[in-house]
Parts: sequence; C-alpha cells; structure tokens
Amino acid sequence: GKITIAIDGYSSTGKSTIAKKLAQTLDYIYVDTGAMYRAVTLYAIRSGYIGKTEDIPALIQNLPAIQLQFVPNQDLGYSEMFLNDENVEREIRTMEVSGQVSKIAAIPEVRHKLVEMQQQMGNGGGLVMDGRDIGTVVFPNAELKIFMTASPDARATRRYKELLDRGEEVSFEEVLENVQKRDFIDSTRETSPLRKAEDAIEFDNSDMGLEEQFERIYDFAQR
Ligand code: C5P
Repeated sequence: GKITIAIDGYSSTGKSTIAKKLAQTLDYIYVDTGAMYRAVTLYAIRSGYIGKTEDIPALIQNLPAIQLQFVPNQDLGYSEMFLNDENVEREIRTMEVSGQVSKIAAIPEVRHKLVEMQQQMGNGGGLVMDGRDIGTVVFPNAELKIFMTASPDARATRRYKELLDRGEEVSFEEVLENVQKRDFIDSTRETSPLRKAEDAIEFDNSDMGLEEQFERIYDFAQR
C-alpha cells in the first residue's frame, strides 16, 4: 500500500531533488515544507515585519491573512508555491529570503500553523514530504524516514551552483555562511529543532551522485 515518506536534514543536502524524483516514480504527492516557511518569510519581508524593521508580534497577528497553496505545474512536473494567489516559486529562493527564513521558522506560532497544514496534506499516505521536522513532529509515524547529511562544503557548492543557474549574484563564501547559519539556528531553536528521529536512516551523500542516491533511497521505499 501507499506509505508516508519523511525526508529531513540539513540545508542544501539535496533533499528536495531526491524527494521530487521519488514522488514522481512512486506516483506520490510531493510536499516541500521549506517552500512554506520561505513563503511566510517573503510575506514578512514585504510587510516590513522582518528585515530592516522588525515586528514579529504584527506578523503573528496577521498569520491568518497568509494563504499558501501548492499549484501543480504540468510542464515542470511538480507544484509551485503560491502566496495569496501569486506564484512566488522563484522569489522564495533568493538569498534575501534565505537570510531571514530560519528566524521566521523559529516562531512557534508560525510552526503551529504550517505543521497543521502539512498534517492535513498527508492523510492516507502516498506522500513524500521534505523538511526539518517531518519525521519528528509532522509525521512521527511515517513508515520511512531519511535523515540527509553532507559536508558543509558539498552543500554550499550545490546551493551556489543553483543560485548561479538562476542568475543570482552571490559569492561562494556568502552561500557557505548562509547554509551554516541556517543549520545553527535550525538545530538550536526551542520549538522542534532539527534533529534525526530515532528511527530515521541517516544518509550521507557528500560523495554520491544523484543516480546512486536515488537507487538507494528507492530501495528503502520498496522494503
Ligand atoms: O528546505 P529549505 O532549505 O528550503 O528550508 C528553508 C528553511 O525553512 C530552513 O532553513 C528552516 O529554517 C525552515 N524549515 C523548517 N522546518 C521545515 C522546513 C523548513 O524550519 N519543516
């Protein structure tokens, strides 16, 4: 039968690439929970709740005004993130958003709202969800849990290439610093910090190509 697959891990470990491919192959739904935290962050930046000025209580008060939706794109083969009916798939991946997202993700009220939404997306299985707290908090009963790790250098290199491909002007050092800073905030926050679930399979892909990673993880899903 259909199962729930939770993929957690550090920033830029390639979680979403594997999760997407796994969902396509199994004909499962794929949910990128990082996109949801990023969309809330974009909303907060635009509203002046974080960045040059900061007003977290106002963000918390306005959480009900934030509408998030994953809209399937047939050409791309996956869903794109919509914030209040606007396609923000590109804008949520900028360094500006990456620089603030972990602060926003540490707010308990934000997590509460998003975790509730995520749990509603998963009923019945047939789901691959990636994030930081999927195996520990969102779906503690997931049949398969993967915890992805890779060296900071391997991760920053991946993210750097992605950003260059999108035409963003960044330096490798900037990207490395952002990846490490997010990992630090994500793993030390009070509410559901990033950690490996007891029953998760730890998967270090520093020296592994995409094909090999996919084969191994697909194999776990078949057991
Ligand atoms: O996965 P991605 O790197 O896009 O996630 C962006 C940020 O969102 C993470 O660094 C983390 O702060 C937050 N996040 C989270 N819990 C999740 C998914 C993402 O706190 N389940």
